Amino acid sequence: MNHNNFINNLLYLYNNVTIIINLKEKKISHYYDSNNLIDSNISIDEFVFDFSNRNEFNLDSKNKLTRFFSNFFSSNDPFSINATYILKDESKLLLNFKGYKYDNDDVLLVISRIEDNITNSTYDYLTKVLSRESMVKKVNEALLDVKPFTLMIIDIDYFKQFNDSYGHMYGDIVLVEVASALKKYVSNNGYVGRIGGDEFLLLLYIDNDYEVVHDACSKIKKVINNISNHNIKKASITATIGCALYPNDGNNYYTLFKKIDKALYRGKRKGRNCFIIYDEEKCGKISDEFSEINNNIDSKDVKYSNFNIISAVSEILNKDNNYNKNIYDSLDLIGTYFVLDRIALYVLNIDEDNIKQIHCWCSNNSTGLDKVILNDKENIDVWRDNLDSLGMLKIVQVESNKHLTIYNDLHNQQTSAILAFELKCRDENVGFIRFDMCSINRFWQTNDIYSLMVISKLYAIFINKINEQIKHNKELYYDRLTSIYNYIRWRDLVQIEVENTSSYSVMYFDIEGFKHLNDIYGSKVCDEALITIAEGFKEVFTTGMIYSRVADDKFLCFIPTDDKSLIESVYNYLENKLRTSMNYKDTFHLICGVYINKDNDILTTSIDKANIARKQPTTYKEGLCYFSSEQYEEKKFKTELELHMFEALDNNEFLLYLQPKVNIKTGEVIGAEALTRWNFKHENLITPNLFIPLFEQNGFIKELDYKVFENVCIFLRKVIDNNNNPIIISVNISRYQKDFDTYINKIDSIRKDYNIPPELIELEITEGMYVSDVKEISNLIKKLHYLGYRVSMDDFGSGYSNLAALADMDFDLIKLDKGFCVNTKNEKEKIILSFVMELAHELDMDVLCEGVETKEFMEYLKSIGCNIVQGYLFDKPIPEEHFYDKYIKKI
Ligand code: C2E
Ligand code: CA
Ligand code: CA
Repeated sequence: MNHNNFINNLLYLYNNVTIIINLKEKKISHYYDSNNLIDSNISIDEFVFDFSNRNEFNLDSKNKLTRFFSNFFSSNDPFSINATYILKDESKLLLNFKGYKYDNDDVLLVISRIEDNITNSTYDYLTKVLSRESMVKKVNEALLDVKPFTLMIIDIDYFKQFNDSYGHMYGDIVLVEVASALKKYVSNNGYVGRIGGDEFLLLLYIDNDYEVVHDACSKIKKVINNISNHNIKKASITATIGCALYPNDGNNYYTLFKKIDKALYRGKRKGRNCFIIYDEEKCGKISDEFSEINNNIDSKDVKYSNFNIISAVSEILNKDNNYNKNIYDSLDLIGTYFVLDRIALYVLNIDEDNIKQIHCWCSNNSTGLDKVILNDKENIDVWRDNLDSLGMLKIVQVESNKHLTIYNDLHNQQTSAILAFELKCRDENVGFIRFDMCSINRFWQTNDIYSLMVISKLYAIFINKINEQIKHNKELYYDRLTSIYNYIRWRDLVQIEVENTSSYSVMYFDIEGFKHLNDIYGSKVCDEALITIAEGFKEVFTTGMIYSRVADDKFLCFIPTDDKSLIESVYNYLENKLRTSMNYKDTFHLICGVYINKDNDILTTSIDKANIARKQPTTYKEGLCYFSSEQYEEKKFKTELELHMFEALDNNEFLLYLQPKVNIKTGEVIGAEALTRWNFKHENLITPNLFIPLFEQNGFIKELDYKVFENVCIFLRKVIDNNNNPIIISVNISRYQKDFDTYINKIDSIRKDYNIPPELIELEITEGMYVSDVKEISNLIKKLHYLGYRVSMDDFGSGYSNLAALADMDFDLIKLDKGFCVNTKNEKEKIILSFVMELAHELDMDVLCEGVETKEFMEYLKSIGCNIVQGYLFDKPIPEEHFYDKYIKKI
């Protein structure tokens, strides 16, 4: 073989040789350039010698080559070097030597020419057939002529997979081989160009005759199949061919290209390794074609084409919270990978349907970013109008599409070709993305369209994610109903202010009787009231004021001042607005507690203090209330009690005190009332007025009632066990006992535990209880009577007296309230008192008078026929052991 052939072939059209060397035999087993397979039997030494001794290589390159070859044969890793080769005309040629072992015996070596400055983009750098741009030019030139021609796309089947499985170098070889074969076939009868990774475009001057075209296609198919049979044993190479005829199928580049693209697509759908000559009926309409693409979005094409770039984009977008940078980085990657000139990502403001944000990327050739800034609504609509049913706009050559509504825009933006997508996520249009070419046309290949379509979807999802996050943040910081800050946001903002100023006030608002109003007027009206307050805040706003809705009808307002007149004007404004601007005038009123910071409290304490002040006023007439430290101490004290109450129950801190009931005629102690004292932590004695109302509020009173009842049983047990005469002891039932059956079961089982005769126990039902439900109370009385207890009515005359109801209830005893009894000078009260006395006797009930403090009053009571009394005149409530010693033992 002529050694010069190596170099000569390099310099030939394709400038690329591939050599497979068998290491065992130290022979070159295959050697082929893009033109021919040359089976040759030369030894490696000869081959290497030939290279390193050629005078055309300069010294430096020779050294490099020697080193390259010695490493190349001994190492398993891929190698690559560049060496300079000097041509006869003294111009220089840069050659790349690249190789690796692909199995134990064989090594692969590719020698290729590296693009130098002399070569421009007329030829494809790898295959040396025409470049995409030159091909467009050629087609456009041919279109000026009447001579018919056929345009074909040849797409190598599963090229990406092939590339992945056998390595890029094999991929390169395939491309070179295919290009070479096509070139040979076309010869002088047309042009071949590589227009994309694995896509070739062929212009063939043949007749517009179906038979002729069919024949050409099958020949080309064979030529390609031959490559696989012949040169590359590992893989079989096939291609799918789509073609259209000029002038039959179209007289411009855009139409023709669209048709071959469609034909190609049909071929792929048919299963590849075939050719499709465009046929209007078979290939269908454009929209159909694209919906087919859409349906097959999961097809192998997408999976294998540009899979890496798609996953890279997704990875970059979700890298961290630096959204803008991530978007830019991903656009940069896409732009570079797909060799684009410009990308613009428009993010829409969904509520207002305008553009919120534009992210741009552009290559060095681009004409600049300012051109792609769309800023008004009209522009968006123009875009929308140009999208097809897939939400896509694809233009290969803007200049030849003057009829498009968007033409002028694109022309002004210096866009020469464009692919654009609507960004949709969950049926919501969240934006647009456009991929522009700025100076050249672009055949958007199916693979690239798929990939960019998938990438667009990634952006849509990403934008949607950010939108959701913004929405979520809004929900985090704003109250849904009134759209003002919520408590969390308010607290965070006020916290910062509080750190810088000590002179501030916190106002804590609520609506008087809001729960009740909700029941009466419904939530719609009440929501309106809340919104009215929020509006009021906006109107009365003064510098530095921060307001929020805390929950329900509660609002908080921070004012950086201790100026009471300002505070009052804010309150008055809001109260007045609420009172007058609603449909229900004079129904809704504001209550407000204010804390003016004095003690340099932390914020939560200031809020607590304003809240304590808020709970002070009982009607709106005294609606504005300032915090006082007494209130605070009281509240603190209550909290302390509440924290300890359960423990106190177990520690027996609730002591039994007994107050005697006396028969005034005989002076005899005929019974006692059980009253509680709290020996708090066994340190100080607390009277019921401090803890009973609290327990009534928090429900703990129920527990306490059982405890007192049990203490009474224990006491009676002691009396009985000591053989003393037992007396009747009365126990209070709290008016907050609601479930009477539970109550009765519980006390009766306690009584049984201590084996106490029920007639020794009297239960006091307070007057307030039976106004609500007479029937229920009379049932309770019946049940208690049935079990053998005595029942008395407590606090009669304290305010709820319902004399008629009294007749329906079978009390054993009526206890006249101490308030009822005091003023003996008031004639009217005397009349009422004697009337009650008569009524009670009529109903066969005993009457006891509570709170008797004076002899004088006692005498009066005697005179009207009341003979049982309880009061300080005889004794105070005293500890049970004193009571035992004083009254029981004696008897
Ligand atoms: P109450 O049931 O009306 O109890 C009578 C109250 O009048 C007792 O107050 C008693 O000390 C007081 N008192 C008795 N004689 C006089 C007097 O001559 N002058 C004056 N000014 N007051 C007199 P206490 O013990 O402070 O209890 C207050 C209230 O707390 C009781 O009113 C009762 O409603 C409630 N309470 C006390 N212990 C218990 C209990 O164990 N269970 C329940 N549910 N409530 C209790
Ligand atoms: Ca009582
Ligand atoms: Ca009472």
